[in-house]
Amino acid sequence: MALTLAPETTRFQREIKLGRVLVVEDEELIRETIALALLEEGYEVVTAEDGRKGLNLVCKSIESGYPDTSLFDLIILDLMLPYVNGLDLCRLVRHEGNSVPILMLSAKGSETDRVVGLEVGADDYLTKPFGMRELVARCRALLRRHRHTQIPTQEATLRFHDIALYPQECRVTVRSEDINLSPKEFRILELFMSHPRRVWSREQLIERIWGPDFMGDSKTVDVHIRWLREKLEIDPSHPEYLLTVRGFGYRFG
Ligand code: CA
Repeated sequence: MALTLAPETTRFQREIKLGRVLVVEDEELIRETIALALLEEGYEVVTAEDGRKGLNLVCKSIESGYPDTSLFDLIILDLMLPYVNGLDLCRLVRHEGNSVPILMLSAKGSETDRVVGLEVGADDYLTKPFGMRELVARCRALLRRHRHTQIPTQEATLRFHDIALYPQECRVTVRSEDINLSPKEFRILELFMSHPRRVWSREQLIERIWGPDFMGDSKTVDVHIRWLREKLEIDPSHPEYLLTVRGFGYRFG
C-alpha cells in the first residue's frame, strides 16, 4: 500500500484545483523530501516506492475513468525503479491514451536518458541531484501548461435538457433558476454531465469525488445522489436525470 500524505488541509486545497501528484521513487529520502515540498505548496501527494506499486496506482487511475480525467494531475517518475522501471511505466500510461503530465527523474545525466525519457512520452526531465525549488517550479509549469491545453473542454458550459453547469463559475441552473449545490454535489454533477449516460459504480464515484483515502462507506454516495435529486428533479422520487442502474450504480440522462 502506498503511503498517502493527504491531511485535511491538502484535501481542501485540491478542491481549489492545485492538483494531486503521484510520486514514484524508490529512494526513501528523496521520495519523502519531494512529498513534503509538494505538500507545503498545497498539492495532494500519493507516493509509491517501486514501479509495481506505481503501476497499480496508475492502473487504478485509468480504470476509474476516461484517460483525460485521471486521478492524478501529475506524475513524478524515477527512471530506475525496482520491478517496473520508469520508462516502461511511462510508456504504459501513454499507451492507455492518458495525457497526464509526467516529470521524469534520473540519477544519470546522460543525454541518451533524457532523449529516451522524452521519447516514451515524459513531458520534462530532471537530473539528480536537484533542488526542491527547481522541482516545484517544474511541477507548477507542467500543470499550468497541461491545464492550458485542457481549457476548451474543461471549462465549456455543460448542458442537458434544462440543466446548465458553468464550471468556471461553479454555478448550476435548473429550468433557468440558480440552485445551491455543495462542492461535493457540484463535482458529482460535473462528472455525470461530462460523461452523459455513463454508468458509475458507487466505488468509482468515491474514488473520483472523495479520493482513494476516503474511509466512509458507499451509502455516502446514495445520500449525495438523493440530495442532488431533490435539487434537480421535478419529482425526486421518479428521477428523470439521475437514474439508478440496479446492481451497478448511477447514470445521468
Ligand atoms: Ca531509483
